[in-house]
Amino acid sequence: MFTPLSDIHLSHLRSIVGDEFVLTDPESIDYASRDETEDLCFPPECVVRPGTPGEISAIMKFASAEKIPVTPRGGGTGLSGGALPVHGGIVLYMDRMHEIIEIDEGNLFAVVETGIITEMFQDAVEKVGLFYPPDPASRGTCFIGGNIAENAGGPRAVKYGVTKDWVYGLEVVLPNGEIINPGGKLLKNVTGYNLTQLFIGSEGTLGVITKAVMKLIPKPKFSAVLLAAFDDPHAACRTVPVLFREGLDPSACEFMERDAMQMALGHVEKTLPNSDAAAHLLIEIDGNDENRLAEEIEKAGMVCDEGGAIDVILAESGQRVNEIWDIRRGAGEAVKSHSIYKEEDTVVPRAKLPDLFVGVKKICADRRVRSVCYGHAGDGNLHVNLLKDTLTDEEWASRLPPTITEIFKHCVSLGGTISGEHGIGWSQKEYLKLAVSEPELNLMRGIKKLFDPHGILNPGKVIDNRN
Ligand SMILES: Cc1cc2nc3c(=O)[nH]c(=O)nc-3n(C[C@H](O)[C@H](O)[C@H](O)COP(=O)(O)OP(=O)(O)OC[C@H]3O[C@@H](n4cnc5c(N)ncnc54)[C@H](O)[C@@H]3O)c2cc1C
Repeated sequence: MFTPLSDIHLSHLRSIVGDEFVLTDPESIDYASRDETEDLCFPPECVVRPGTPGEISAIMKFASAEKIPVTPRGGGTGLSGGALPVHGGIVLYMDRMHEIIEIDEGNLFAVVETGIITEMFQDAVEKVGLFYPPDPASRGTCFIGGNIAENAGGPRAVKYGVTKDWVYGLEVVLPNGEIINPGGKLLKNVTGYNLTQLFIGSEGTLGVITKAVMKLIPKPKFSAVLLAAFDDPHAACRTVPVLFREGLDPSACEFMERDAMQMALGHVEKTLPNSDAAAHLLIEIDGNDENRLAEEIEKAGMVCDEGGAIDVILAESGQRVNEIWDIRRGAGEAVKSHSIYKEEDTVVPRAKLPDLFVGVKKICADRRVRSVCYGHAGDGNLHVNLLKDTLTDEEWASRLPPTITEIFKHCVSLGGTISGEHGIGWSQKEYLKLAVSEPELNLMRGIKKLFDPHGILNPGKVIDNRN
C-alpha cells in the first residue's frame, strides 16, 4: 500500500531540508522507533528534521505524490504509540522548530513554534510574570506540538482545563502540503466550523501543527500543598467530590495508592512519614490572596479529616512543595522501571471515581494481574498500570487483553471513557469501539479521509478501515 523509500526519495528529501537533516544512522532510527509506550518498537526508514513550515509543505506534497507515510514526532513521551511509524516511512522530528515568536503581554497571548519543550515555554512566560497552566508530568521533555496533538492534561487541568482550553489559533501543514492558519488572538470567534479545535487531540493524523497561539494569564502569587494519608483508598476517592461540593477550587487534586507512592518514593529516593498508608491525596490550592488561601487550605484539611484521613501534612516551604511534586511526577517513571507494564488512562465523572477504583481492583484481582493506580482524581482520571511482574510471557499475553476490556467496559458503564489524556494512538485502537458508537466512528473515518485522502499522515493511528 505504501512506497518504500529509495535513494532517489532520500536525495529529494535532502534537497528540501539539507543533507544534515535527513538521518538514516542506526542511532537516529532507533530513537525514532520508540516512545514511552511500553516496549513498542517500529523503525522508520528515515528521520527528517524540518526547519520551516515551507519545508514541511514540500515534504508533504512529495510524500502524498509518492505514497510515503509521514509520522510527526514531538518529544516522544506519548503513552499510546502515536509517534511510532508503524508503517515505516518518514518520521518528521519537530525539534528544530522551537522558537517563541512572541509573548504579547497586552493581549495575554504567546505565539510559539510547536517544537518547543513545554517547560521551557512555561519558564519563559513566568519570567514576565505570566502563566501557561497545562503541566503534563512529562513537561521537561514533551513538546507543545505533542501536547496539542494529544490534548494533554496534567495535574492543573482540574482548575485550569486541558491544552484545548489554551490554544486559540494554529498554523497547520495539511497532508497535501497546503498551509492553513485557523483561529488567532481572538477571545471570540464563530466564523464557520472551529478547525482549530478539530486539530487539538487529532494525534498527528489530520495535519502537522507548526505554530500555535496560546492564551496566558497572570501567574497566581501564592500556592500551598497538602498531602492527606488514608488507610482506605475508597475513602480517599470519596473525599474528592466533597472538596468541590464544599466550594473549594483546587489547582491540583491527585490520588496515589500505596504501591504507586512507595515505588515513586524509591524512584526519587525520598521518604514520607505515612508512606505505608493505603492511599494519599495531594491537594494544591493557588491564588492571589494569602489569607484566603490559608483559609481554603485549612478547609481542605478539614474535609480530608472528615473523610477519614489518618494524617494531613501541610507543605509550606517551596522546597517541601517541590519535593512532594517530585514524588507525584516520578510515579509514572517509577512504575515503568519496576516491571513491563501497560498503562490505561480511564476517566469517569468525578463522583464515580470510588466505583471506578473498586471495580478496577476487583477485575485485576479476579484475573490475577497486578494493578497500580494513581492519577488526576479531581478530573475523575485514574491511570491504571497493569504490571507483568512475575507472570510468564504466555500468562501476560493471555490475561492482559480481557483485563483491559473488562476495565474499559466497567469505565464506560460508569459514564466514563477509555482515554482522558493519553489518546488512542496505536495501542488503544482496538478498544475504541467500546466507547465510541458506529455513527461517530463513521464521522471520524470521513474526517480522516477528507483531510488525508491518501492516508499517508500517521497511518494506522486512532482510526482506519480496520477498526
Ligand atoms: C512520565 C510521563 C508522564 C506523563 N504525564 C502526562 C500527564 O500528566 N498528562 C498528559 O496529558 N500526558 C502525560 N504524559 C503523556 C505525554 O507526555 C503527552 O501525551 C504529551 O502531550 C506528548 O507530547 P510529545 O511531544 O512527547 O509527543 P509525541 O509522543 O512525540 O507525539 C504524540 C502524538 O502527537 C503527534 N504530534 C507530535 N507533534 C506534532 C505536531 N507538531 N503536529 C501534529 N502532530 C504531532 C504525534 O504524531 C503523536 O501522535 C506523560 C508521559 C510520560 C512518559
